[in-house]
Amino acid sequence: MQIDLSRFRGTCTCGRTHEIFVKDILIEENALRKLPDKIKNIHKGPNSSIVVICDTNTYQAAGKQIEILLPGSEFVILPANGLRADNIGLALAKKGILASDNPRLLIAAGSCTIHEISRYLAKEFCIPFVSVPTAASCNTYASPVSVINWNGFKKVLPGVSPVFVLADTLIFAKAPYKLTAAGISAMLGKYTALTDWEISHMVTGEYICNRVCEMEMTALKDVCISINNLKGALQEAGTKEAGTKETGTKEAYEKLMYALLLSGVTMQMIDSSKFEGRMLSQISGLEDMEMNSTSSEVNHGEKFSLGLMMAIHTCHKIKSSIRNGIYKAIPYDGIAYNLLEVNFRRKSSRDEIPDTGLEESFELTNEWEHGSKRPLIAGVLDKLPSEAELIKLMTAVDCKSKENYGKPQDILAPITLRLVPYIRNRAELIRHSKLFKMKNET
Ligand SMILES: [Zn+2]
Repeated sequence: MQIDLSRFRGTCTCGRTHEIFVKDILIEENALRKLPDKIKNIHKGPNSSIVVICDTNTYQAAGKQIEILLPGSEFVILPANGLRADNIGLALAKKGILASDNPRLLIAAGSCTIHEISRYLAKEFCIPFVSVPTAASCNTYASPVSVINWNGFKKVLPGVSPVFVLADTLIFAKAPYKLTAAGISAMLGKYTALTDWEISHMVTGEYICNRVCEMEMTALKDVCISINNLKGALQEAGTKEAGTKETGTKEAYEKLMYALLLSGVTMQMIDSSKFEGRMLSQISGLEDMEMNSTSSEVNHGEKFSLGLMMAIHTCHKIKSSIRNGIYKAIPYDGIAYNLLEVNFRRKSSRDEIPDTGLEESFELTNEWEHGSKRPLIAGVLDKLPSEAELIKLMTAVDCKSKENYGKPQDILAPITLRLVPYIRNRAELIRHSKLFKMKNET
């Protein structure tokens, strides 16, 4: 499936002319075989000036095949165990690139971590990069920015968009299922991201593009319809498990990969990563930071599920508080340094916290106290799935067991929600929540 990229470009009813930098996206069986031909269009030098970045696992999944397709190319094979998109991971990959003679092109063959590292280093070395995703595990493959754990604090840093993406179904649909489950969680996070964007637009007049919202919602619904076919990875041909179910599984995986890649494309369209990072990634990002610094990509996916449940729970709570009139607006009183000192033990992490506060806090407090938009906000929150519906979707694909999410009050970690508003300086609902509290809360 060659994605028609023309529909993401051009003038739009939002008032902007959208541009994207990725030139080609292919999601199909054996897509990787087209790598040499596609490379010819963007790289004229010898294969020795191509550096493939992968880890010990993704070398097996895709790297080996690339080695045959592009003989003579250089390989940086990072240790999969404990690899993260952080200062250490970056330094290791950079050392590998510098050891090659004349790096002119990077190929990221891996999942999320390998892509974050490659995107950042492609920007630093001022060279293009090509994406070969090995799992449907995250929504940042086509992203133009890098999310790096910098000194224990997750930061969005400059990166570059891949020139093209070759997503080979026979590779990413065979990834360990835990990685796919992480991708499904990330994709379900679009529910809160979309409603949050709509609310911010309504309350603060923030820019919104309805075309992007529609594309994202359509892709999300397409995945949800075929979600049962995602359970379990694609089996090797000829095995007992492979058979009649295979076509449905491949299609479902391709739909998921499309939805995940679309996230990066829409980031390019609106020239911002704000949408994808809304609410949910702040919660999971926070969990990834100081409080749990040993997390891996899989754990990040699990935290994403937990973050989604927290976000949905909070949204419904806000909605019923509005409807029942049981909240009161409170003035913003600056950053709670005491709270942060207790929970971010490392000073280097605390130093990364944005210190600008809620610039629009007066207007927002006013809105929460007297505003006419509150019923409309509750109306937008109605679009979210209920906690029970979300649990059903997540349980269907083993994102999290029903037992773990059976009691929302147990998973709602109050400290996480109190810290989250400080992570990024954005006017999001979760950040607005600093400006009001339920009347029965202390
Ligand atoms: Zn638009």
